Amino acid sequence: MSRADEVRTGLEQVRRRIAAACTAAGRDPDEVSLVVVTKFFPAADVRILADLGVTDVGENRHQEAEAKAAECADLGLVWHFIGGLQSNKAAAVARYAHVVESVDRPKLVGPLSRGATEAGHEVEVLLQVSLDPPGAVNRSGAAPDSLADLADAVAAADGLRLRGLMAVAPLGEDPATAFARLARVRSEFLQVHPEATALSAGMSGDLEHAIAHGATHVRVGSAVLGPRPAVK
Ligand SMILES: *Cc1c(COP(=O)(O)O)cnc(C)c1O
Repeated sequence: MSRADEVRTGLEQVRRRIAAACTAAGRDPDEVSLVVVTKFFPAADVRILADLGVTDVGENRHQEAEAKAAECADLGLVWHFIGGLQSNKAAAVARYAHVVESVDRPKLVGPLSRGATEAGHEVEVLLQVSLDPPGAVNRSGAAPDSLADLADAVAAADGLRLRGLMAVAPLGEDPATAFARLARVRSEFLQVHPEATALSAGMSGDLEHAIAHGATHVRVGSAVLGPRPAVK
């Protein structure tokens, strides 16, 4: 089987899963966008995905993302940055990323705004909310009670547009429980920011649960592209 056939098969399976999850949840499949996570996979795979009609791709490491976005600039894709962000890299990320999903602290807002403004484009921002219990180690994402201030900072920044929330289900917890909690955080958030309707949640292993709890974007890597190479 050629790589293109392999990727086509993976993509068809994931699209079917998304459609079935939408049916089960009584939602219109057009409400859910697929972001294919291409981290660790080569630019050649990104080209295959674009040929198969994928419009949105996600990356989690700045150097790899920057190089791949440049190599694939002719494809007209929407690049999502979904990884942990260092404040000294944030301006550079905002130059090539169209959507930054992992904004979790106010310190990132200034450099993101500067990068977006310098690049002459608007960057869509999702706030990453932590679903870990308070005090957990290696917590990634903002605590739910810090979202309001973070959202205000993004909304006030030039070059940035607040689009919604992003989350990752914690390891070791039933994703249905975690995403139910996320849905409650989101509904409170929407009362203050009704325009920020995006909810990025769900990966290869749990996209059905995320769709059941209102995800508008699922970020899927291995179920489309196969197992990632271990190290790079
Ligand atoms: C890698 C990654 C994904 C995709 O994970 P899969 O299990 O391969 O679908 C989704 N979201 C984030 C934040 C990631 O880092």
